[in-house]
Amino acid sequence: MSTTPIKHVAITGGTHGNELTGVHLLKHWRNNPEEICRDGLVTELHLANPKANGCNRRYLDQDLNRQFNWDDLSDHSLCGYEHNRAKSLNTLLGPKDAPRVDFIIDLHTTTANMGTTLVIKSDDALVVGMAFYVKQQMPEVTLFYEPEDRMSDNFLISLAKHHGLLVEVGPVPQGMLRWDVFDQTRQATLHCLDFLAAVRRGDEPDLPESLAGFQYVDKLKLPENERGELTAMIHPDRQDADYQPIKPGDPLFMTFDGNSINYEGTETLYGAFINEAAYYDQHIGLSLMRKIDIRLPG
Ligand SMILES: [Zn+2]
Repeated sequence: MSTTPIKHVAITGGTHGNELTGVHLLKHWRNNPEEICRDGLVTELHLANPKANGCNRRYLDQDLNRQFNWDDLSDHSLCGYEHNRAKSLNTLLGPKDAPRVDFIIDLHTTTANMGTTLVIKSDDALVVGMAFYVKQQMPEVTLFYEPEDRMSDNFLISLAKHHGLLVEVGPVPQGMLRWDVFDQTRQATLHCLDFLAAVRRGDEPDLPESLAGFQYVDKLKLPENERGELTAMIHPDRQDADYQPIKPGDPLFMTFDGNSINYEGTETLYGAFINEAAYYDQHIGLSLMRKIDIRLPG
């Protein structure tokens, strides 16, 4: 599967400062390092955005998890807090063009009812294989497949040599812990480490050739008036219905006076990040996804 052995793994949390699950898992593992210890692997724990976490905010100046493309990391005129934080993480884990760290597992939460989702941003066999392995152990996991060139990807995980995996678990409000979300995130991460350790010792798990997953199609904005004020919210039929089909004509939004606004597309798609609180700053109501088969690269 992989010709270069994996050794250095970074687990990052608090990339969004008000997503507390990752922040507290890092603390838990600092106090219980044996839980993440695997023969042959050196695993590091990094709180990615400590200042935003201290303020219980997603970010101070910019969304940190959009600052890691090569051009932005090289642009010294970008000097907001998260711009600088991205450059520091690039020094610590990268540099992106010759990374010290082989793999990054970045821990996130969502306020949407998405359960445990693994976001795969690479077609690297190791990354896809890891996601397949986690799904084998935890069939309830959903796979998002969004392969992107590592140098142009703006996610934190793109700093690592093999890209990495983003673990996204919900629903949980911002600034809050829930045991089910905490435990699912913990289990998924430990399976990731098990997989990397197995590959390192040449004991690669048997994996299916393909698995069902989702691919991003579009995001839909919440309806606004001409002054840019919200005029509607997520329709009750869509609330908490992540990964359920949205057929042409299905209700999407409910106006403040109780009228449905329906989906005008012609293809049945699937909702995700439905009513995600973090996207209210951009008035984004949900993402539309297409069901796909993800193939394990040969
Ligand atoms: Zn996040």
